[in-house]
Amino acid sequence: MTYLHRAWAEVHLDRIKTNVENYKKLLKPETKLLCVVKANCYGNGDAAIAPYLENELGIKWFAVSNIEEAKELRDIGISGEILILGYTPPEYAKELIDYNIIQALTDESHAKLLSECVPKDKRVRVHCALDTGMTRIGVCEKTTEKTCETVERISKLRGIQLEGTFTHFASADSDNEDDINYTKMQAEKITAIAKNLKKRLASLNEIHFLNSAGGIYHSSGKSTLARLGIIMYGLKPNSALDVPFKLEPALDFKACVSMVKEVGSGVFVSYGRTYETSKPTKIATIPVGYADGYPRFLSNKGEVLIHGQRAKIIGRVCMDQIMCDVTGIDVKVGDTVTLIGTDGNETITADDIADIGNTIGYEIICNISKRVPRIVYDNGREIEILKY
Ligand SMILES: *Cc1c(COP(=O)(O)O)cnc(C)c1O
Repeated sequence: MTYLHRAWAEVHLDRIKTNVENYKKLLKPETKLLCVVKANCYGNGDAAIAPYLENELGIKWFAVSNIEEAKELRDIGISGEILILGYTPPEYAKELIDYNIIQALTDESHAKLLSECVPKDKRVRVHCALDTGMTRIGVCEKTTEKTCETVERISKLRGIQLEGTFTHFASADSDNEDDINYTKMQAEKITAIAKNLKKRLASLNEIHFLNSAGGIYHSSGKSTLARLGIIMYGLKPNSALDVPFKLEPALDFKACVSMVKEVGSGVFVSYGRTYETSKPTKIATIPVGYADGYPRFLSNKGEVLIHGQRAKIIGRVCMDQIMCDVTGIDVKVGDTVTLIGTDGNETITADDIADIGNTIGYEIICNISKRVPRIVYDNGREIEILKY
């Protein structure tokens, strides 16, 4: 199969394997891995990665954000458990059952509405979300006792098969003392709730609260599952904090050079004339832009790698093109440009880009758009091309 050599992403399964294995070593042996493959595996390409996780790495648990992502996993043959972490409207109860998908409950009223939509003599599998401090979704009661009563009521609703509960940490990726204490408080809350619930509900198999940061910066405690997301893809939960092993970013973002020209001093570049050359300058145009998910905040700030050298983005990032100062670099049309990844001794990570835009690496890789084909490699061998 071929693809358009304009802008593309190279995704390396062997790097994902390394990240998963290194993370697993930090967990207690009884904590199972749940791989978070939402948002197209954070932009990395779920159609290649999810089957690899299941078939090559033996992963038995997956999580997504919504029912369309869940159905897509079943359609490509994933047979492991699939948990939907986000909201599903109650009228999808039958589809949840038909596809054997586990749904997160946002609260008791969601549980009741879902229950009403379950066909006669059927049950929908659920994990009840508990709000211990994120204030996003989850049962939110003042005391452990009240929380347990609510969860118990939910478990008795017709058509509801309660198999687990979970909570989500708000600041597990921080080394600030207050944040660390907050995470501890959240872990203690769910542990107390779990202990109490175990006595009431025999069917409650899974109690989980670890995300990537929770697994590396906090004790895994009694979390039966660790919900591994960003670290699997080789990025840090918090770019300012080290991770206790070497991460291998799974995705490289590349493009080609479409035009090279030499201009004099005093020449304006790109929309809005925000850049003016101050000397004779060699400029390369590269056919990638914000429609590909290459952030516009990199205008006059970002860099790319060409032949192992850094080249500054000059002028504004356009929808489909950027211009770079390649003075002193031997560049010709068709040469490969690295937007995210390593070329020679130089590396640009999604976290480096995120820092420029005051955002997080998660957003940078999730935003690489569907226009960009994902070329999937395993140990340097091209195995699949994902086009959307
Ligand atoms: C996205 C998500 C995760 C994964 O978080 P990472 O920081 O990427 O590890 C875990 N749990 C929930 C509930 C999520 O929404």
